[in-house]
Amino acid sequence: MTIYDRLGVRPVVNAAGTLTRLGGTLMCAEALQAMHEAARSAVVIDELQEAASRVIARHTGAEAGLVTSGAFGALVLAAGASIAGLDVRRMNRMPHYGYENGCEIVICRHHRNSYDKAFDVAGARLVEVGLLDRALGVGVREVEPEEIEAVIGPRTVAVAYVAMEGVGPDLAMVVQVAHQHGVPVIVDAANQVPPMENLRRFIAEGADLVAMSGGKAFRGPQSSGFLCGRRDLVASALLQQVDMDVAPASWTPPKEFVQKPLNGVPRHGFGRGFKVGKEEIAGAVAALETFISKETDYQKQWADRCRGFAAALAGLAGVEAIIVPRETTGRLPLVELVFPSVAKAAEVSRGLRDGVPSIHLNERRVGEGRLTFNPVGLDDGQEEVVAAGVRRLLGH
Ligand SMILES: *Cc1c(COP(=O)(O)O)cnc(C)c1O
Repeated sequence: MTIYDRLGVRPVVNAAGTLTRLGGTLMCAEALQAMHEAARSAVVIDELQEAASRVIARHTGAEAGLVTSGAFGALVLAAGASIAGLDVRRMNRMPHYGYENGCEIVICRHHRNSYDKAFDVAGARLVEVGLLDRALGVGVREVEPEEIEAVIGPRTVAVAYVAMEGVGPDLAMVVQVAHQHGVPVIVDAANQVPPMENLRRFIAEGADLVAMSGGKAFRGPQSSGFLCGRRDLVASALLQQVDMDVAPASWTPPKEFVQKPLNGVPRHGFGRGFKVGKEEIAGAVAALETFISKETDYQKQWADRCRGFAAALAGLAGVEAIIVPRETTGRLPLVELVFPSVAKAAEVSRGLRDGVPSIHLNERRVGEGRLTFNPVGLDDGQEEVVAAGVRRLLGH
């Protein structure tokens, strides 16, 4: 009996991708082992985060890093760090400090998305810049430096940038403008690895803080993430995240993060709800290291699953399976299932979800009569289960 049996919850086959509502990807064995070991002993969280920081820094090229509660939690803390810095009085006034002082974060209009609420949580207000021309497929001009410059003012605490394959403007340009005005750039790179080079790319291009998910392709704990970047900003994020119910007479700041004296001892920060446990820190770090050492194996597994899935549906009436290789997606191979109609695609999707086992395909193109098979969240051999489900629903 598994825990799901005991709770009476049916497990699902996740061929939809890194969806949080389906539990993200399956944690790798190394992360699971690290969590087991971490759970068996108490530890000073600051020291564990210092160790995590060394690993994250080594692999990203950043000065420092932190394990967070997902990329969303990383973005909340990044905004909080940009607003308060290492000023203890400001930290203690969070998140009101941001609201009362009208703190602003500049963002390109076509980068707005459902996750940017993270910035509101820290007390910042988003100020949009640029037009939707490129996103709409009209116009050839990107958001330009002058436009960004024009909206940066005394209340600007950061510029936010959402990294997306093939979508501008150029990060290095944004960084240059922001730095001319003394404001940091926060990059949401939640889902940008693979490709592996993106692990270092945004820091190399000058980003001050980069947020990544731990529970997507890295296969760490689903609720984990990483924030990496400038040491002083990561330090502020950590101090606003951890338990600070300490005796000021005996407390010393974590020395790898905080390298100058603080103007006081912060109280519990507004980031307390975004805390991470020792198990998540250990699991996320193990997953990161495993991903780096096994990326070629992971890529092979994903490609094999796609090939196996498409082959099992080859020549079937009522559906065409098209492999979209990694070279085309820039990250993961996928399989597009093309049905004769939107209604048929929706019917198959519903039928798979309601079946035993319950199977989820990605519905992002269901409006075009397509369902997408994403291999990243599957277990070994499950591509066969998904293919069998599709065959059954099509009456084969
Ligand atoms: C998934 C995602 C997030 C949230 O990441 P979590 O690790 O689930 O908190 C934020 N931004 C983007 C662009 C994402 O794809």
